[in-house]
Amino acid sequence: MNNFEYKKATGTQEASNAVTGHSDAMFIAGGTNLVDLWKYNLLHPKLVVDINHLPEHRRITELEDGGLRLGALVSNADTAYHPLVESRYPLLSKAILAGASAQIRNMATNGGNLLQRTRCYYFYDADVPCNKRVPGSGCPAMDGYNRIHAILGASGECIAVFPSDMCVALAALEAVVNVSGKNGGRRIPFADFHRLPGDSPEIDNILQHGELITSIDLPEKGFAQNYSYLKLRDRHSYAFALVSVATALELEGDTIRDARIALGGVAHKPWRVREAEAVLVGKKADEAAFTAAAEVLLTGAVGLKYNAFKIELAKRAIVRNGMMALHPETQLPGAQPSA
Ligand SMILES: Cc1cc2nc3c(=O)[nH]c(=O)nc-3n(C[C@H](O)[C@H](O)[C@H](O)COP(=O)(O)OP(=O)(O)OC[C@H]3O[C@@H](n4cnc5c(N)ncnc54)[C@H](O)[C@@H]3O)c2cc1C
Ligand code: SF4
Repeated sequence: MNNFEYKKATGTQEASNAVTGHSDAMFIAGGTNLVDLWKYNLLHPKLVVDINHLPEHRRITELEDGGLRLGALVSNADTAYHPLVESRYPLLSKAILAGASAQIRNMATNGGNLLQRTRCYYFYDADVPCNKRVPGSGCPAMDGYNRIHAILGASGECIAVFPSDMCVALAALEAVVNVSGKNGGRRIPFADFHRLPGDSPEIDNILQHGELITSIDLPEKGFAQNYSYLKLRDRHSYAFALVSVATALELEGDTIRDARIALGGVAHKPWRVREAEAVLVGKKADEAAFTAAAEVLLTGAVGLKYNAFKIELAKRAIVRNGMMALHPETQLPGAQPSA
């Protein structure tokens, strides 16, 4: 029996203060990741601060600069099916709908999605060492079954990947995360929000203890004409990505004027390489161009015993998804080919 205290927050500052003032306190939103981790005996919060009763963070609003603000407490489902998201940021809708299941997407919130933990099997087994769970204890995945693990940006301490689909699209769209803490608010560009494991794999992102994610801002440019999200996995649904790709293109005729490509399932954070996107600009949108970009994106990739296949898989996924982005109207909503 784990005893804990429950507090229902009625204001942003109150919620943030409650967690800041208690080293073993955590926020709970949809609970779809937190409660699992708790049941697996991986978390032991002494105070749980329920943020579900903050209506100001449960809405989607248009911004004066032409962008869109997604409240942190809006569910993944309500975000994916919101008319403005569907029409202006269909890449984001598609990525969200590629994740989890309908039931989970109804509970899961946008803020919680950014903070979900890795799905590394060893991380979820409290009986084995894991540097992310217990710093300095070791990483059994290095010489173990590492099929789902990182091929880019890993360290000698941890080779876990970040499992979110939504965040791959948010990286490509260059979203900004709004947070509120004891020192007020700050805006964090999406590329800076998650971090690589380095020698402190226990830290997934740059949030301070007690900082509350209040919303996520999407810039005006939504790439609604040419986009695609491709998720390759072992099962057709209810499975995390082995490799996923979010591609957003701006075309003039068949020439690429702007391009974004973000990869999921390959690193400790959504993976973007600006040089790879620059390779595409001014080129004809064809397989040759996407193949050249894929080579740059996968520069430095390292395969381990069971995951080396992901390097070629990622390259082919980039090319295939680039070609799919030229004809987004031919993609069925939510349809995803299996790996
Ligand atoms: C079976 C299963 C399959 C899944 N498949 C996929 C998938 O294919 N793709 C995918 O992307 N995801 C998948 N998910 C993950 C799911 O999307 C996340 O669990 C969910 O988004 C987390 O949101 P939540 O609101 O439930 O967060 P919670 O579980 O409530 O919280 C998660 C973490 O975030 C913190 N937190 C929550 N909200 C805030 C906030 N506003 N500010 C600060 N901290 C906060 C909590 O303290 C906790 O640490 C799956 C989950 C399950 C259980
Ligand atoms: S890869 Fe990271 S999360 Fe997985 S066992 Fe190693 S240290 Fe833990």
